[in-house]
Amino acid sequence: MKRDRHCGELRETDIGSTITIAGWVFRRRDHGGLIFIDLRDRSGICQVVFSPDVSGDAHEKAHGLRGEYVIAVTGEIRKRPEGTENTSLPTGLVEMYVQDLEVLNEAAPLPYSMEEAAEAGEALRLKHRYLDLRRPEMQQNIITRHKVTKLMRDYLDERGFLEIETPMLTKSTPEGARDYLVPSRLNPGLFYALPQSPQLFKQILMVAGFEKYFQIVKCFRDEDLRADRQPEFTQIDLEMSFVDRNDVMELIEGMMKKLFKGILDVDIETPFQRLGYQESMERFGNDKPDMRFGLELKDMADLAAKGTFKVFLDALQSGGLVKALNGKGMAGISRKDIDLLTQEAQSYGAKGLAWVKVKGGFESPIAKFFPEDVLKAMAERLGAEDGDMMLFVADRPKVTFDVLSRMRLELGKRLSLIQPGYRFVWITDFPLLEWDEEEGRFQAMHHPFTSPLDGDIAKMREGDLADRAMLGSLTAKAYDIVLNGFEIGGGSIRIHNQKVQRRMFELLNISEEDARLKFGFLLDALQYGAPPHGGLALGLDRLVMLMVGAVSIRDVIAFPKTQKAFCMMSGAPSGVESKQLKELHIRTEVVVEEKG
Ligand code: ASP
Repeated sequence: MKRDRHCGELRETDIGSTITIAGWVFRRRDHGGLIFIDLRDRSGICQVVFSPDVSGDAHEKAHGLRGEYVIAVTGEIRKRPEGTENTSLPTGLVEMYVQDLEVLNEAAPLPYSMEEAAEAGEALRLKHRYLDLRRPEMQQNIITRHKVTKLMRDYLDERGFLEIETPMLTKSTPEGARDYLVPSRLNPGLFYALPQSPQLFKQILMVAGFEKYFQIVKCFRDEDLRADRQPEFTQIDLEMSFVDRNDVMELIEGMMKKLFKGILDVDIETPFQRLGYQESMERFGNDKPDMRFGLELKDMADLAAKGTFKVFLDALQSGGLVKALNGKGMAGISRKDIDLLTQEAQSYGAKGLAWVKVKGGFESPIAKFFPEDVLKAMAERLGAEDGDMMLFVADRPKVTFDVLSRMRLELGKRLSLIQPGYRFVWITDFPLLEWDEEEGRFQAMHHPFTSPLDGDIAKMREGDLADRAMLGSLTAKAYDIVLNGFEIGGGSIRIHNQKVQRRMFELLNISEEDARLKFGFLLDALQYGAPPHGGLALGLDRLVMLMVGAVSIRDVIAFPKTQKAFCMMSGAPSGVESKQLKELHIRTEVVVEEKG
């Protein structure tokens, strides 16, 4: 029996015809004389009915059907009797009366019921991923992912981009994480690295004259997995020659516009707002602000200095900040809730949280340290009105920003300030370098191949290497794209001059020898007529997650790994036979042997 239609497409126009469909037994109801089955395939669900009046044989066989059996059925499409229609199903006005049933395959008893699959623990869902992926929500997520990449591919193709593959077995590229290493059997003691990104290869493709490159590419980063990361993830990676920052940003804006229209029928306004890194930090406390609500941070240093509250004064004296935000309508909250909020701030690293309720006057343990007019000025700056509560953090800049940006998000949720919709923003003008306290040297904020602003190149080339303030003030031609508080991509205009690239390595305290060893091939390429170039990479997983409204990137990846980088289904990583290790010239401290 071969199907001639799909389950989800049956409609009233099919009434009277006899057809064959196939799929999985989803729900099954045995009503004495009649047996009802919801049959499911990728297109949807339809109801099939087994009646002894139509086929005694099929009805008899149908008693034996269980959840997730794979069957094919032939029968007549009939209108459902009045009162039994299911308007929530596209096929809900019709049903099939089965004349012929073929069981294509049986299914073992399920580890969890398909109807309650969303509530089954994630470990179980990941172990039986084939079952999890059968759920309509998961099918939709994966289908949307396909549509997103198809649309992007078409968009880039229409604009003259070439899809070019770069090696998976390669040399380490620094994107700030540890590499996954692959031993080379043919070269004892040597290792390949799986790419953290195709960064150097895409730049070399520009030197090679391809002008516009893209790739939908797996990247690998061996990080301690924080929250929602995956050791392997997918980027839409692209690079262009003879462009400036605006060209790259406009390209991506057009792509997002097309994507959101084509997939969600949502109109996205372009150009996107652009915010300098510094401004983003000052106003939102981080470089990936959620622009769907206000609740901006305000600087309170000048007003704090007019009082006698020691915590504020100490923070200012030691080069710290005093910043605040306004808790709209929060003046009514209890002491206990304030304690909880304070604990929360402490868990983000703050020493404490100062608060002032605006209730006719000002109510607060710290009110006595400030003249009335200063408190009024604070309220005015924050836009705090009667019924609101001002929240202050005074600490080192990093801690102040970090704590308040998290408080802002938390309050945004709690006070239901977040507007629905999609708000994009570009963050630009990042510092070129950031000081690494632990290592006592500068790190590249984006990566070492990012160009400084034109005006900063001379400073960078001629400036004193010991002048930390000057080096810290250099600005990069880098940009991140942020959607609803998530960084979904980033890139930069690159250094295309070999001497500038060498100088950059010097600033990063990478010796000539080391630079040659690690990046010699790039330095070589740069001296043979490298065009000016730049690009960006988008994180596909996160973008699709936001588009489908999933809570985790694991829900938009067919076979994701756990927080410990483990594949619950296949059991990777696993031990290997000692014979394999020997061939690879590898001796390990921990031996986990796996018998084939
Ligand atoms: N290679 C960078 C990354 O993976 C993106 C870029 O600069 O194009 O973050």
